[in-house]
Amino acid sequence: MANFRLHCRLFSLAVFLFLFLFPLSFSHSQYDDDESDQNSPISRFQHYLRIKTAHPDPDYASAVSFLESQALEIGLHTKILEFVPGKPLLLVTWNGLNPSLPSILLNSHMDSVPAEPSKWLYPPFSALRTSDGKIFARGSQDDKCIAIQYLEAIRNLRSRNFIPDRTIHISYVPDEEIGGFDGASKFVLSKEFKELNVGFMMDEGQASPGDEFRVFYADRSPWGLIIRAEGAPGHGSRMYDNSAMENLMKSVEIISKFRESQFDMVKAGETANSEVISVNPVFVNAGIPSPTGFVMNMQPSEAEAGFDLRIPPTADPDAIRRRIVEEWAPARRNLTSQIIEKGPIRDYLGRPLMTMTNDSNPWWSVFKTAISDAGGKLSRPEILASTTDARFMRQLGIPVLGFSPMSNTPILLHEHNEFLKDTVFLRGIKIYESIISALSSFVADASQ
Ligand SMILES: [Zn+2]
Repeated sequence: MANFRLHCRLFSLAVFLFLFLFPLSFSHSQYDDDESDQNSPISRFQHYLRIKTAHPDPDYASAVSFLESQALEIGLHTKILEFVPGKPLLLVTWNGLNPSLPSILLNSHMDSVPAEPSKWLYPPFSALRTSDGKIFARGSQDDKCIAIQYLEAIRNLRSRNFIPDRTIHISYVPDEEIGGFDGASKFVLSKEFKELNVGFMMDEGQASPGDEFRVFYADRSPWGLIIRAEGAPGHGSRMYDNSAMENLMKSVEIISKFRESQFDMVKAGETANSEVISVNPVFVNAGIPSPTGFVMNMQPSEAEAGFDLRIPPTADPDAIRRRIVEEWAPARRNLTSQIIEKGPIRDYLGRPLMTMTNDSNPWWSVFKTAISDAGGKLSRPEILASTTDARFMRQLGIPVLGFSPMSNTPILLHEHNEFLKDTVFLRGIKIYESIISALSSFVADASQ
């Protein structure tokens, strides 16, 4: 009996050790930097994430050299273009059987926004993978994931001897995060771009916290608005009409009311945040400086305020311009306004910059079917609240969808602790295999 009890105790001890200590041995190694497998899609993703392409000093040379080496290894053609010195653009090509058909272009920007390392759980350029598969890095969602997924999908398709009908191009562009003016904006105007004869393009999208993938058919166009007021200066004790500050404050009041009317629709759930005109004050510049701050007993003769406006493609830009001149900054109140348009708002035929997501656009149904063939689901197509390089291609009348296959993923672009799970990244490769093979095999009529 005593012996039996001892056995029981030994057995319980063994079970205890197994249940409690065995898992500990895993959680001790908090992250795994994949040294064991240097030749996997994940390790190639990590390699790219470790290249510091964050502003203000993005290492484009290393990014181009890594991506080019990958493309060449897969057997693709490459070309480096440079429209502005020090800002290279890598073009990768997989020739199709029928080069007369318009091609497919997959776009990804190489740069990212900066990161504040002290606010991160792990160094933002370490690309560390935690034991639950999260890969932490600046750019992991925006948008270095798609850069590698495009290549990995093509690698897999080629290994299965898939041959595309249409030629597939990938463009790796600089400077998207600072407006794209030395990158995509110059690229679309080049003879090299014209020669690609692009029929359909895909660009970055955003993560989706739910099961469905998000897809974007338009961006909002950013405008900077500066309103300047002038008026007679005067003693701080005197009340008189039309001082610069008074006129500017009236403007701010009217603009705030407009902002409220737009925001109320969002709050009421009537429309999405990205479908209204947003206007947010970003600076106020007024006052006469003194050694201790500002002169307090004098009303200044000049004052200005700056606003960030985002215009959805469904809004009429001329009506907004009229509203600014007539209501927000009327000359009768000694106000002037300046609009800084950051990119196009209409295409070359004067149409809104939108890609159709209905039967009128045959590429839409090919894309949608490719997603469901790969077992994915799409949520209702959206307008992107911010801006991407896609606007430059849409201006040429090219249909562009914004899409990054990240479902069940918190939206962390430009935030601290940006990460992407390894399983989500790997599933994205399968999704692109389906999309790329479907788009490149799509033959409707000669015009598309
Ligand atoms: Zn991006």
